Amino acid sequence: MVAGRPPRAHDAELNVAVSLSATYVGGGSLATGATDTGEPQGPTLGYGRFGNPTWSALEEALGALEGGEALTFASGMAAVAAALHLLPATGTVLVPHGAYNGTHSLTALLAEQGRVAVRHVDITDVAGVRAVLAEVEGPVALWLESPTNPLLEVADIAALAAAGRERGAVVVVDNTFATPLLQRPLELGADVVVHAVTKFLSGHSDVVMGAVVVPPGSAHRDALLRHRTLHGAVPGPLEAFLALRGLRTLPLRLERSQASAAELARRLREHPAVTRVRHPSLPEDPGHALAARQMGGFGAIVSIEVAGGAAAADAVVDAVRLWVPATSLGGVESLVERRRRHAGEPRVVPEDLLRLSVGVEDLEDLWADLARALDRVAPRG
Ligand code: PLP
Repeated sequence: MVAGRPPRAHDAELNVAVSLSATYVGGGSLATGATDTGEPQGPTLGYGRFGNPTWSALEEALGALEGGEALTFASGMAAVAAALHLLPATGTVLVPHGAYNGTHSLTALLAEQGRVAVRHVDITDVAGVRAVLAEVEGPVALWLESPTNPLLEVADIAALAAAGRERGAVVVVDNTFATPLLQRPLELGADVVVHAVTKFLSGHSDVVMGAVVVPPGSAHRDALLRHRTLHGAVPGPLEAFLALRGLRTLPLRLERSQASAAELARRLREHPAVTRVRHPSLPEDPGHALAARQMGGFGAIVSIEVAGGAAAADAVVDAVRLWVPATSLGGVESLVERRRRHAGEPRVVPEDLLRLSVGVEDLEDLWADLARALDRVAPRG
């Protein structure tokens, strides 16, 4: 049996079908799914919000990759929201100061509503996070993202997870940038892994989806399933099929993209229009040594800072022809974006920072296009 494939038998379909039923004929017992109270146990009623065979196939594959049990959600943010919900009301969530802006905005909203308290922390400083963990009272969640979007800061997941556990915190890792091929947070001691499946896992910029993964037998699974069923943030079956299809080429896409990313990072260092390059592959990058130890590769996202500020960075985005000026990341097409154009982007992200999501195009084509756009700001000598 291969994870995410139908059982192997003569004439069996190789791929799981897209199950488009909103309901199922009663009287049977579907193996997966919840009940109408969100409970995973008890007689299951076949209904499209409780469970779906196409989601199950994707969840099986994602669970196998992360070493846990996966649940898919309607988007990465739906997965983030479900994971945050594991923290009881009046608890405190420690959030990286440079976390993904959606996570920042949602935690800020929850704080505004009085549901949780938020403390921003520097996740590259284990002692500092430990100190905050010791300071806060009541239930705690430690939210980690590594590498972070878009500063590419690297967190020592094992050390921080140990510190979190000592304090009784729920330790969550957003593993969107690394994917389970480069980093398996559950093995490093995390309680919960979150993914924007929208990005590398599906890989073709044609799906919006999320996932949460917990260790086998974790009590969190029931709570997450209940949350998904009752809040209704369920993925579409076609999206699940596309994500599963994309997942099958993840190793190939990632290998190509991260090799190109590392080479582009090296070349970008030498360009006069670039004042700083962030990619953990670079020996001088603050996260290099830790990433080399913790990750199976350095990933396919590079951030650069452009001489001349936001206007110069915008000029670079306007000048590219092969790179696509667009938000999002992790697809086969290379995308470039000045992140501070988003109102919700954390202020620790420099105004002139461009995030480059490196796709699978020819490396020399990517370099020629980017270098030409940068030449407009400061020509190479
Ligand atoms: N987590 C990270 C690190 C992300 O980059 C994103 C989206 O960019 C999300 C979560 C949210 O995912 P989605 O856009 O699918 O809701």
